[in-house]
Amino acid sequence: MHEARIEWALQLCQQAREQQGYAQAQLLDELAQLLQSLVDLREVPAPDALQLNARRIIDQMQEPIILLDRAGYLTGWNQGAQGLFGYLPEEAIGQHILFLYAEECGDGDPEIPELFLEHGNSFVEVRRRKKSGEIVRVDLSMSVLRDDDNQAVGVVARLSGIGERLSSQDKLRLHAKIIEDSDQGILIVDAQEHIVSVNAAFSRITGYLPQEAIGQTSDLLRSGVHDANFRSQVRSAMQGTGAWHGEIIGKRKNGELFPQTVSISVVRNDEGDITHSFSIFSDISVLRASEERMQRLVNYDSLTGLPNRTLFNQLVGQALATARRNHDYGAFLTIDLKRFTAVNDTLGHAVGDELLRQVGQRFRQSLRVGDVLARVGGDEFVAALLSIQKREHSAIVAKKLLAALELPFLIESNVVHLGASIGISVFPEDGIDTASLLRFSDVAMKRVQANVESGYLFYCPEMNQRAKEQWQLEGELRLALAGHQLLLHYQPKVSLRSGRIVGAEALIRWQHPVLGMVSPAKFIPVAEETGLIFAVGNWVLEETCRQIRQWMDSGIEMPPVAINLSVRQFDRLLPARIQVVLDRHGVPPTRLKLEIIESLLVDESRNVVPIMNDLVAMGLALAMDDFGTGYSSLAYLKKLPITTLKIDRSFVIGVPHDKNDCAIAQAIVTMGQQLRQEIVAEGVETLQQMAFLRDLGCDQLQGFLFSPAVSSNEFERMVRDDVRLCLD
Ligand code: C2E
Ligand code: MG
Ligand code: MG
Repeated sequence: MHEARIEWALQLCQQAREQQGYAQAQLLDELAQLLQSLVDLREVPAPDALQLNARRIIDQMQEPIILLDRAGYLTGWNQGAQGLFGYLPEEAIGQHILFLYAEECGDGDPEIPELFLEHGNSFVEVRRRKKSGEIVRVDLSMSVLRDDDNQAVGVVARLSGIGERLSSQDKLRLHAKIIEDSDQGILIVDAQEHIVSVNAAFSRITGYLPQEAIGQTSDLLRSGVHDANFRSQVRSAMQGTGAWHGEIIGKRKNGELFPQTVSISVVRNDEGDITHSFSIFSDISVLRASEERMQRLVNYDSLTGLPNRTLFNQLVGQALATARRNHDYGAFLTIDLKRFTAVNDTLGHAVGDELLRQVGQRFRQSLRVGDVLARVGGDEFVAALLSIQKREHSAIVAKKLLAALELPFLIESNVVHLGASIGISVFPEDGIDTASLLRFSDVAMKRVQANVESGYLFYCPEMNQRAKEQWQLEGELRLALAGHQLLLHYQPKVSLRSGRIVGAEALIRWQHPVLGMVSPAKFIPVAEETGLIFAVGNWVLEETCRQIRQWMDSGIEMPPVAINLSVRQFDRLLPARIQVVLDRHGVPPTRLKLEIIESLLVDESRNVVPIMNDLVAMGLALAMDDFGTGYSSLAYLKKLPITTLKIDRSFVIGVPHDKNDCAIAQAIVTMGQQLRQEIVAEGVETLQQMAFLRDLGCDQLQGFLFSPAVSSNEFERMVRDDVRLCLD
């Protein structure tokens, strides 16, 4: 029986030798167990025979194995141990284990792991001294040998030198695998610069299979974009001037160029001659592409693909510096689209976006290649003309840009007409740096913006003065809103049949602490430009309703009051906003009228009709203010739910002496009568005007002839006293 077992043990041992690495350790564990079981066997062979067989097994092991008795004296020493430490078995056996120790150790020192048997198996890293005196680090793995009574009789210690675990063949195999599996492309060339080895990543990146690359020179990947100087740097690195790291544009098999980061080093033999050089490279085209995407995001407008303000400043800054040196002329054109906001609001953002794209294209096509065009705001573009012969040339370009918008845009079956306001600043007259030139072209653009029509204007210093005043006004107006400097005056409207007060227009007044009364004609346009008109408009609505409520509460029968609405207040939410205020003050809608200037209504793209219908449905009456200035057609007027036409003062001034004004006034009144609308003549100052307009068939009069706008108290008194216009 025991013979068979020992035979089996020998087989195991044979296998152990054939195996590599840790599998061997496992087999040896089994071997230790086997030896243990041999000790445990009933039919124990003669101890000598057992020992003899065990020693045979152990001696054949390549792995260093040492047997110790309980006191730490060596009882076994195999070939592996001899190989590792250099002692022959006869030199080692019988010695105490301490003779292998690197450091001096005292007897019974618990630091002696070989004697530390209580914990059974253990695995430690220790330092030991060879016969040669050299210190080695070894891994020590121990198992306890026990006798029949389970008493520890000794120790099997297995050792392996750290760093010697891999055979040089294993090392080669391991290195080859690391190279092959690397994410980075690796290319090895011999001293004649022929490729001798490439890895899988090389093939993946370049498209060349190993068999296509090996034998070729690294010119295989040459893109041809680098100059001779650069190439010689790389070449000398391959010839051993020192490791080189940098970026190279390579060429794939399919001809595509790709950026790569490359490290080049050389390998020398023992004599110091270069035998090989190798390049380790990474394809950074994906990185580059995302960098470029980032660059685009940072520098370009994603909608139109045009440069944004950042890139514009950069491009123009450089060009201006050159222009300054060459004494060239240049011009900045700030272009703001007219009616774009209305299109965006009514037709939706998708249409708005497409419109901007198309506008960008048309502008770009109208300009020369050297001109810079950027989109710098929602509907704002800037063009920099960087070399023009004289200032007038920029006007020609402005006209071209305006002409580019003349053809309507067709977007998703919507026909959209756009206009533009263009402000021009000229280099070097108006300024020599980008910031000033942009500011001045903007100031000029704002001036054009105030007109209904498209157009362009050159900047002039007076404009800047006015712009400065406006900025100041804006700041003060904000304070006025917060500081209760605004108030409403009421201008009565009288019936041309009865002479009695039949209505009033609420007109805003600004009681400026220093300037006194500031005219709305001065600050309303500023409020509109800056967006403050929302706050101002809300205040007017709120204050009018509060006043109406107060009059209702005091039991006085007051006529309806009209308020003026600015173009910018006219949006989809306007009806809801008004309803909230009416409800809050408990004011019936019939007490309030809304005046809307004709130019707002003329702009068909604003799509005001549905909003007006909503307002009328709420019970509000709408009046068209400044009628005659917007040239509305009769056909269009018919579509609008208007109850009142207010003839603009400019037509009233000339009557009854100016024949043209008389004819126009007559036409307007006739038109209004056909539409069965109430007609109010504005700005009537004289009795003759009054008589003429009354004879034409006007219904009401509003003007200094009867009364200017007065305070709420004064207006209340006039109504209470039933002050009348004398019609005779
Ligand atoms: P509007 O709505 O056409 O108001 C009539 C303007 O003509 C008022 O000027 C009024 O004082 C003036 N006026 C009335 N009768 C005569 C007259 O016989 N002769 C002369 N020379 N002028 C007369 P005001 O108050 O200076 O307002 C100017 C414009 O400011 C208004 O024109 C209106 O467009 C705007 N505005 C006034 N208040 C407001 C407001 O609360 N909101 C808005 N958005 N605009 C307002
Ligand atoms: Mg008005
Ligand atoms: Mg008016």
